[in-house]
Amino acid sequence: MKVTDHLKQNKGETLFSFEVIPPVKGKSIDELYKNIDPLMEFNPPFIDVTTSREEYVYIERGGLLDRKLTRMRPGSLGICASIKHKYDVDAIPHVLCGGFTKEETEYLLVDCHYLGIDNVMALRGDSMKEERYFEPTEGGHQYASDLVKQIKQLNQGNYLHEVIESDNCSDFCIGVAGYPEKHMEAPSLQSDLKRLKEKVELGANYVVTQMFFDNQRYFEFVDAARDMGIEVPILPGIKPIAVKKHLQLLPQVFRVDIPEDLIEAVETCSDNKAVRQVGIEWAIQQSKELQEKGVPVIHYYSMGKSDNIKAIAQAIF
Ligand code: FAD
Repeated sequence: MKVTDHLKQNKGETLFSFEVIPPVKGKSIDELYKNIDPLMEFNPPFIDVTTSREEYVYIERGGLLDRKLTRMRPGSLGICASIKHKYDVDAIPHVLCGGFTKEETEYLLVDCHYLGIDNVMALRGDSMKEERYFEPTEGGHQYASDLVKQIKQLNQGNYLHEVIESDNCSDFCIGVAGYPEKHMEAPSLQSDLKRLKEKVELGANYVVTQMFFDNQRYFEFVDAARDMGIEVPILPGIKPIAVKKHLQLLPQVFRVDIPEDLIEAVETCSDNKAVRQVGIEWAIQQSKELQEKGVPVIHYYSMGKSDNIKAIAQAIF
């Protein structure tokens, strides 16, 4: 079922959803199930599965370092299909511009359709570690908006090289990313919002936000988006801080601010077990307020371990 239909069907309650990361190559999918199992009692209407693009790995050969482009994690489609089958829940693959040609994207989307996937999250993807700026893959897309356009065209039966007369076209519900504290490359929040509006005008049906630790940022972002005429649901993304080094890592990687009170609470912790508890309590407070304000879904970034997400969900849902 489409995310937008889940939201329509819901009678004013705040729903629980979460995102998982495919296990690294060589690990078993059971690793992933072990993290999903404890969260199923909170009835998520959908589960997102992230996609990682290829990365360079360095291999020493005869004393010289050789580099090889490789994918460290399996593709998200197979994982979505197995989650859907095992838990009877909608699983949402993240589809990226980076690392894929338009043809490869089309094949992926056709497979998604065959496998009964109703939603896809359309994202640009980050630059590779070696790149200063995002470099589009040859034959691929530059921006998530181009990807939204391709998905929308496929929904209308317009394939890349031919038009297929078909009454069995895909009809994907399309999610896109939004940034309450602006995307790191955007010159201003206003210009980033204009880009978000373009994605919605081209066919995006809902937005999931980047993590934030101060709800005010999210409320202001939603107000600014509505003022600009963006009317689709904007689902808040929440990530509990789990280790002390997140204080540096999260602002560096995601360009998000951490409120002073949270920094102080983390800094006074003697070990990461205590930090994990601080992260849980902060996320519970954030979630309570979001729930009181009537957000339709709270989407949690589980980052591979779900014990903290479970503790938050137990307090909220
Ligand atoms: P875009 O919407 O293309 O925006 C990228 C930048 O370009 C922005 O600064 C925007 O303002 C600007 N821009 C957009 N259009 C134009 C234009 N026409 N001209 C000039 N500038 C423009 N990454 C992964 O690799 N895998 C994942 O699974 C993944 N999941 C994510 C899930 C969520 C909910 C979020 C919030 C992010 C996720 N990301 C993921 C990270 C995301 O790929 C990065 O943040 C990436 O840098 C931007 O992606 P985007 O889709 O927002 O890009």
